[in-house]
Amino acid sequence: MIKFSHLYKTYAGPVTALKNISLDIKKGEFVFLTGPSGAGKTTLFKIISAYSKPSSGGIEVAGFDLNEIRPREIPYFRRKIGVVYQDFKLLKDRTIFENVALPLEIRRERQSYIDSRTSELLDQVGLYYKKNQFPMQLSGGEQQRVAIARALVHHPGVLVADEPTGNLDPDLSEEIMDLLDKVNAQGTTIFCATHDHDLVTRRAR
Ligand code: ADP
Repeated sequence: MIKFSHLYKTYAGPVTALKNISLDIKKGEFVFLTGPSGAGKTTLFKIISAYSKPSSGGIEVAGFDLNEIRPREIPYFRRKIGVVYQDFKLLKDRTIFENVALPLEIRRERQSYIDSRTSELLDQVGLYYKKNQFPMQLSGGEQQRVAIARALVHHPGVLVADEPTGNLDPDLSEEIMDLLDKVNAQGTTIFCATHDHDLVTRRAR
């Protein structure tokens, strides 16, 4: 699902953010990436989601060779992966329902499909009853659950999460991890970066 081989990324400076990373994440796996701030996690996530290219080395995600991908293929590729961020990236002036529905609206799906798929996802993350509320009316944990619902809207084979619990207290972090476990149990591959080593240790038991 995600394969890096001898991946390097160097920024002007020069700063070597990634040095010789090789990793093969298979379909259905749940993989944590840990490391302190500055270790290169965000750099790796930008490369996985085709927002940045490696300086050298191979990178394949969901069947696409990201060194070879054409600009016009990128929107199609991005539907194959779901991305979750630390700061949720929800639109503040839209309801929860509208936030999850937006990627489907952009694709001009039928209204009946948009309604049923969005309702199904909000139900899955336990927030259907808040569908008409705005992000600011929700707790951080609830906002992240909405962001996860939105990331799953196109049935992606892989979900990448960059510090999804970075803004949440420990109880809510566990709740988000339980949700990611549920998503993984339904067959979605998960690659999750975190600097919270305790969270990973608890999950590994
Ligand atoms: P993390 O997400 O693990 O905190 P980053 O991928 O953000 O790590 O950063 C890895 C290293 O690359 C850091 O030393 C950072 O300062 C550097 N870096 C990240 N982005 C840029 C950039 N656009 N230009 C120059 N250096 C960068």
